[in-house]
Amino acid sequence: MKLMDAHGRAISYLRLSVTDRCNLRCSYCMPEEGIPKAVHAEILRFEELEQITEIAVSLGIEKVRITGGEPLIRRGLVPFLARISTIPGLNFLVLTTNGVRLAELATELRDAGVERLNVSLDSLRTETFRAITRGGDLATVLRGLDAAVQAGLPHPKLNMVVMKGINDDEIVAFAEMARERGCTVRFIEYMPAGRVEGWQDHFLPGEEIYHRIASRFELVPAGDGRTAGPAKSYRFSDSPGGIGIISAVSGHFCAGCNRIRVTARGIARSCLFADDALDLKPLLRQGSREDVVAALQRFVLTKPGHHGMTPDEAHHTPFTMAGIGG
Ligand code: SAM
Ligand code: SF4
Repeated sequence: MKLMDAHGRAISYLRLSVTDRCNLRCSYCMPEEGIPKAVHAEILRFEELEQITEIAVSLGIEKVRITGGEPLIRRGLVPFLARISTIPGLNFLVLTTNGVRLAELATELRDAGVERLNVSLDSLRTETFRAITRGGDLATVLRGLDAAVQAGLPHPKLNMVVMKGINDDEIVAFAEMARERGCTVRFIEYMPAGRVEGWQDHFLPGEEIYHRIASRFELVPAGDGRTAGPAKSYRFSDSPGGIGIISAVSGHFCAGCNRIRVTARGIARSCLFADDALDLKPLLRQGSREDVVAALQRFVLTKPGHHGMTPDEAHHTPFTMAGIGG
């Protein structure tokens, strides 16, 4: 039986985190000191991640996004991807990365069956990029983007987390880049992950992001595919490039939400802002396949109809994005 929640939404998209560790320390995502190192046994083995993927696909998941932490730092990732990409019924295998290791891995990722990459890029200024990522090198990520295209992958979608007073003056420059290169940039509302104090000072609503771009370029609404997610998408009238605006906090995309998440520790979550969680690890390690199937089917019924987060709320989510995979 397919995964269907209590609000009539078919669940067809799995965001699967393969590690909570990272080679960057983005200020909006991770504490400067990183997150406490997990005991090895707490992190799912690749065989277990593969088992989850296979079961999820048998239950109607069509799209899997590999995320983290930084997925490209986990050893053994590429053979794992090559295995899951052949699971019948998995129509779309994609991966989100910070791009730091992309130049060396782009060809292997393509060969392993990854169809498209999303690359996080929050500034086109070397110093701002270094400050946001606490030490990252912009040129390395730009080389990674070029390598992906040279490897024959579609132009990666760029994810920019917009922070007022930090990088919001680059919104138009990012849009211009999307227009010139014919690629897609997705502008993500800053979310209050990991109890970041003062996040509201840097919060810029999606509507404002849209207006800044629309006042410079002619935008045409673009329809998205069934598994495309919460971005409101637009094309430029004079370029194949486009933009997406992800209003996770202020927006109302919950009605079309088709996703569940599983963290590298095997915790399934039905909504980024809900407290529900299902620990799949004991079931994977001691239970049967049927136990995992039944638990997932029960779990999606707890998926809330919509989240309660608003920009005015001083509510801070207790997790780091690196732990949950964004
Ligand atoms: N390390 C990879 C990367 O950076 O693309 C994958 C994991 S990262 C947690 C996934 C996505 O979450 C990234 O696009 C990142 O920008 C986004 N993200 C992390 N923290 C966020 C926050 N507080 N608000 C909005 N987006 C956030
Ligand atoms: Fe690492 Fe990605 Fe989080 Fe930045 S957003 S710290 S790259 S996991």
